[in-house]
Amino acid sequence: MTTLHELAERLIAKGEGPREPTREPVNTTMIRHWTQAMGDRNPRYQGLDAVAPPAMLQVWTMDRESPSRGPLDDMLDALTAAGYTGVVATNCEHTYARYLTPGEELTYATRMTELTGPKRTALGEGYFLTWLTTWYAKDEPVGEMTFRLLKFRPREESSPTGKRKPYPLKPAVNRDTAFFWEGASSGELRIQTCGDCGELRHPPGPICPSCRSTERSYVRAAGVGEIYSYVVHHNPPVPGHDTPFVVAVVEIPEGVRIVGNVVDCEPSQVGIGMRVKVTYRRMDDELILPMWAPLES
Ligand SMILES: [Zn+2]
Repeated sequence: MTTLHELAERLIAKGEGPREPTREPVNTTMIRHWTQAMGDRNPRYQGLDAVAPPAMLQVWTMDRESPSRGPLDDMLDALTAAGYTGVVATNCEHTYARYLTPGEELTYATRMTELTGPKRTALGEGYFLTWLTTWYAKDEPVGEMTFRLLKFRPREESSPTGKRKPYPLKPAVNRDTAFFWEGASSGELRIQTCGDCGELRHPPGPICPSCRSTERSYVRAAGVGEIYSYVVHHNPPVPGHDTPFVVAVVEIPEGVRIVGNVVDCEPSQVGIGMRVKVTYRRMDDELILPMWAPLES
């Protein structure tokens, strides 16, 4: 029987896979959509002689109908078959050789570079898989991406002692965010405000983006909102959640947007513009998460 490491060695030795073409050349329409979505007003990316923002590199190859299976697919399948069904991305690094200009036709190719493990992690035992994608203009490498993910064996959901298992995806609670989690524990949706200019902000942070003040306070939100955007998550499995589940960006009338799960309805009932109200779910002995449920009209 081939071990995971033997398979990895073989796949790494294969080197770079075939170069895949991209569906469209670098183009101003995509550059405009992307810079608008990102709020990037750099004049270098606008107008007739615009160049593409380097961070768009992956955009040119985001074509999910793309064809051939590569060494990565074999490795991922083998890990899944071995029981490492969970997946979470851990690192992504881009390197840019130069700006890309509209009209350039790119190709890209991927090689697997490393498999390490098994390692114990907070999510469960798993393997770290790393690969390198290179983008080319003709034969010139114009950018690279190193990507690493963890394929893990999700921990058992229930413990034999009957005690509730700790929720595996704990939020970071620190001096900037403690007020929010304390609010959630007592059934309040608290939104951070600037102690000087009064601007609301979410997620909470140390400094006001408007006036740079470090004075902080919060307001208690009414707890209703409207779905601004959402995804239905089917795969991969996420520890602590049954799939499918819905994660939404909820816009609240106080003026900020909050990310949270939508519960108490079928994913197919969720839509943009749907009115929701906050609800609080106990995840383990310590953590209560605010989530969103349909608002009965
Ligand atoms: Zn301020």
